[in-house]
Amino acid sequence: MSDAIANASRDLDATFQEAYRRPSDGIWHAPGRVNLIGEHTDYNDGLVLPFALAQGVSVAAAAREDEVLELRSLQAAGEAASVPLDGLAPGAIGGWAGYAAGVAWALGEAGHRVRGASLLIDSDLPQGAGLSSSAALECAVALTLCELSGIDIPRPELARIAQRAENDFVGMPCGIMDQSAALLCTADHALLLDCRSGLSTQVPLDLAGLTLLVIDTRAPHQLVDGAYASRRAECERAADALGVPALRDVTDLTEALASLDDPVWRRRVRHVVTENHRVEATVGLLRAGAVTEVGAMLTAAHLSLRDQFEVSWPEADVAVEAAVRAGARGGRMVGGGFGGSAIALVPSPLVGRVCDAALNAYEARGWRPPAFLTAVPSPGARRLA
Ligand code: ADP
Ligand code: MG
Repeated sequence: MSDAIANASRDLDATFQEAYRRPSDGIWHAPGRVNLIGEHTDYNDGLVLPFALAQGVSVAAAAREDEVLELRSLQAAGEAASVPLDGLAPGAIGGWAGYAAGVAWALGEAGHRVRGASLLIDSDLPQGAGLSSSAALECAVALTLCELSGIDIPRPELARIAQRAENDFVGMPCGIMDQSAALLCTADHALLLDCRSGLSTQVPLDLAGLTLLVIDTRAPHQLVDGAYASRRAECERAADALGVPALRDVTDLTEALASLDDPVWRRRVRHVVTENHRVEATVGLLRAGAVTEVGAMLTAAHLSLRDQFEVSWPEADVAVEAAVRAGARGGRMVGGGFGGSAIALVPSPLVGRVCDAALNAYEARGWRPPAFLTAVPSPGARRLA
């Protein structure tokens, strides 16, 4: 364990003791994630390639003798919740506590008996920036509750339980990528996840002198829900028109495009089909140790998301362009679109220059400055203390 993690764990345990007047039984952690490539492929039964961040959500916790879940977060002071486990049902608890209570509910739905517990949550992951703080929270809570309750569940199944918490308890229709990344990623690897089979493979991610810079574009995601639903619907209807179960199954892009009349559907299909190829190409490049070449894949993905899938936003376009002009090997928007973060693959000595270029480009437009974070491929969820 690094000194930084050991110190943070000690601090969280001390804060737990202040909050609950007793020592914690342990500290658990789940990371945020960046999806290196494979955007809007998940609900088309396709491929994604996320890796875990060093940043994430930690939970200090102690079991209780009663059937109550006590929930506090240092990021939501004043919004503590005390939730009876008995009779927990969707709609019962809103706000941030729903993500944690939802995990207890989903474990119960899967037939497991969850014990009462007091939890204190802390995080160094920005929320709503597309780095999946929600799944980090769910998965950290899932590990905590399982261990305190003596429940042993294989991680791919635990990922589905955490996803169910977000889908059915919180009411967010997310795919399986975020929870899989939080639970299954390993240090120095990306996770190639096949969203149809649910099977995953570790792919070495050696950045070899490059830095993966995350640029929080600080743009609010106003349109995201409606636009996300309409993109999903377009993809489903295009797959129907092409006579395939999902766009994942399009094998001949030229033929598929020729058979579609609607130019919007053609653009959507072009993105999804080429994006799956870009994931496969990226895996090939990483296995061949050619990480610098991955930059071109990122930029190609960005252009496809901007021009074919039409989900990028001005702050992301400007950040990617400024980064590439300043020497990044490539970059792209990440997440569903219309707000959130971008990533850039930057030779490490040029990181300062790339950050300055993005700051200047934003300042010239009168925008709020972007925030930066370095993405280091890190281990998945685990017990820290
Ligand atoms: P993302 O997953 O991209 O960060 P989401 O909107 O999916 O964005 O999830 C963010 C939500 O997750 C927050 O609004 C909050 O309800 C919950 N959340 C995440 N981290 C924490 C935390 N440390 N404490 C309390 N709630 C959190
Ligand atoms: Mg989320």
